Amino acid sequence: MTARKPSGQPTLFGRGLTAKRVKSPSTFSQALSSRRAPRPASETTGVEKKRLWLSATAIENMKRCPRCFWLEKHEGIRQPEGIVSRLANRFDVVIKRYFDLYRPNGELPPMIVGKVEGKLQHPFQEKYWYNVNERYGYYGKLDECLVTSAGAYTPVDHKTASSDPNLRELIPAYQFQLDSYAFLLEQNGRPTTGIGHLIYFFPGHGDKLHEGFPMEVSVKTLKTNHASVMPQIAKAIAILEGPPPKPNPECSFCQYVETIKKF
Ligand code: SF4
Repeated sequence: MTARKPSGQPTLFGRGLTAKRVKSPSTFSQALSSRRAPRPASETTGVEKKRLWLSATAIENMKRCPRCFWLEKHEGIRQPEGIVSRLANRFDVVIKRYFDLYRPNGELPPMIVGKVEGKLQHPFQEKYWYNVNERYGYYGKLDECLVTSAGAYTPVDHKTASSDPNLRELIPAYQFQLDSYAFLLEQNGRPTTGIGHLIYFFPGHGDKLHEGFPMEVSVKTLKTNHASVMPQIAKAIAILEGPPPKPNPECSFCQYVETIKKF
């Protein structure tokens, strides 16, 4: 027989406190076991109430696991985030501020002179939207954009890396990200150059770190294929309009949920 803990005795949740029951459907495991009919996607939250807005990140999530994508868009349930470094966010702010110093004069920041063609877009438009239909849209937020003398647009994304990106394989999601930006530019009446840049920032070695930490800059230029985006959007919509897809058998999260159900 298990002895009951007297009230006021320390528990897992602190002295005299008890765990509060969490209402459905907010827990991950409850949602995973849910088999009810999907709500129309247009009722779910988005940037606009009546339209569900998809993005390159959402499409990448869909590629990883349609079920997690479905759960996030229909039920607002995401995988637990864990501990995430915000260092890259801070880098983005610092880099954007630096680029903005050069924008009004039509100059390129010295660190990318000779590595790219065109001028920084001025004024810079960060966000672009595309209405797919009455229920769905696609949006993206550019880090930077260059405009050539012929009036063609080149999307740019800043990346913070741990080491020289030329020594590693390109992450496929970065290609799709640039394709998405090119797609959005085209759909918004801005013809693109057919290329996009990833500007990498990574720490270099230095003997005098006390005088400033050296950052290396490397520009990677990719061909963009904006025609590749619409089929992915169509695939995402088809998933959202259907029932919850099956879990990805290789994912450890769903395996974990299934395992602990036995206890
Ligand atoms: S398999 Fe993984 S990614 Fe897919 S629904 Fe389960 S937890 Fe999410």
